[in-house]
Amino acid sequence: MSLILGLVFRITHYKIESGEGTSMKAFAMLGIGKTGWIEKDRPACGPLDAIVRPIVLAPCTSDVHTVWEGAVGDRHNLILGHEGVGEVVEVGDYVKDFKPGDRVILSAITPDWNSLEAQAGFAMHSGGMLAGWKFSNIKDGVFAEFIHVNDADGNLALLPEGIEPEVGAMLSDMVPTGLHGSELAGVQFGDTVCVIGIGPVGLMGVRGAVLRGASHIYAVGTRPNCVAIAKEYGATDIISYKDGPLDKQILDKTKGKGVDRVIIAGGTVDTFAEAIRMLKPGGSIGNINYLGEGDFIKIPRADWGVGMGHKTITGGLMPGGRLRSEKLAALVVAGRIDPAKLITHRFEGFDQLEKALMLMKDKPKDLIKPVVKIT
Ligand code: NDP
Ligand code: ZN
Repeated sequence: MSLILGLVFRITHYKIESGEGTSMKAFAMLGIGKTGWIEKDRPACGPLDAIVRPIVLAPCTSDVHTVWEGAVGDRHNLILGHEGVGEVVEVGDYVKDFKPGDRVILSAITPDWNSLEAQAGFAMHSGGMLAGWKFSNIKDGVFAEFIHVNDADGNLALLPEGIEPEVGAMLSDMVPTGLHGSELAGVQFGDTVCVIGIGPVGLMGVRGAVLRGASHIYAVGTRPNCVAIAKEYGATDIISYKDGPLDKQILDKTKGKGVDRVIIAGGTVDTFAEAIRMLKPGGSIGNINYLGEGDFIKIPRADWGVGMGHKTITGGLMPGGRLRSEKLAALVVAGRIDPAKLITHRFEGFDQLEKALMLMKDKPKDLIKPVVKIT
């Protein structure tokens, strides 16, 4: 009997390894407001692709907007998740730089690098607006036993020795998105900066502003852990949005001058009005917040210099890509950023993904970022 069971196990195991017609377990969005475990076919590996098995995965606030606010529309049986580190198990014939056994950083954004949009410098919109954001948006995400990565040479990055997989998972989205906020805002040496929202994304926005040479950094948020890390990352002042309009608080603190740059990594559609009001003429706003609700963003006419105030707003999805992942990983290795501080909750086991996502939805006071160790 045990001999037969052993044989069955080996055959099943072999089938999973070889990928012949096997299914896999995954955690998915079933419809707006609904999630659950599903079985799906294991993804097939195209000539330029890779198949990766997860080592560490992390849920994102974006998953929460997608499921519970239906922010990008309805999705059925779409596997969630876009952050993690994994091990390559299969590569396509034309993949040059990765092989089975490599430990890799999965990027949340996986553009088609030969698209016209990528050639124009906006790879994150390859194939249409936001279409470089494939995982858990227009194709299955990473909360699965097997993960399909398109354009593997362009989108994977080796996890450097010395970076723990859970820290590597912060390089999927939190680090690149937060740092992109400081790029979008165009932070320059000596600038005064307000970072609205200091969840894990905004915290990396604070660090990005420091690295780009900001002088004063006003960080907006209330969760005690986030406030503590914001200070460690280099915020000089903490402001609570619960203490009244942010623009008023910033104008009070800057003797009516306002700030040079604003990074928006939290708040609502109404946050833009506050950002415009606190901005100096010639200043710029970089938005990385995923606006889950509301139809319009209102810009206050007079505070926008009746249309002539040179106050710029840029909202952007983080770019993605191997080069960026490698460069940002190099910042971790060099000790210039320390994303390990973002991780507050650790789970173990694939089936804990659901719990970790619910934690992200409920946002308890002590939460910054949860991770789930899979293997
Ligand atoms: P969190 O929910 O952890 O953080 C949000 C922050 O905003 C908190 O500091 C919160 O304060 C603060 N906040 C809440 N309400 C207000 C308000 N009315 N005014 C000002 N601040 C407020 O989110 P994350 O850091 O995980 O993510 C931030 C955003 O970035 C999300 O919308 C996410 O979807 C998006 N995102 C965008 C990506 C991109 O490529 N552009 C990629 C990944 C994420 P408190 O301390 O009180 O909680
Ligand atoms: Zn994310």
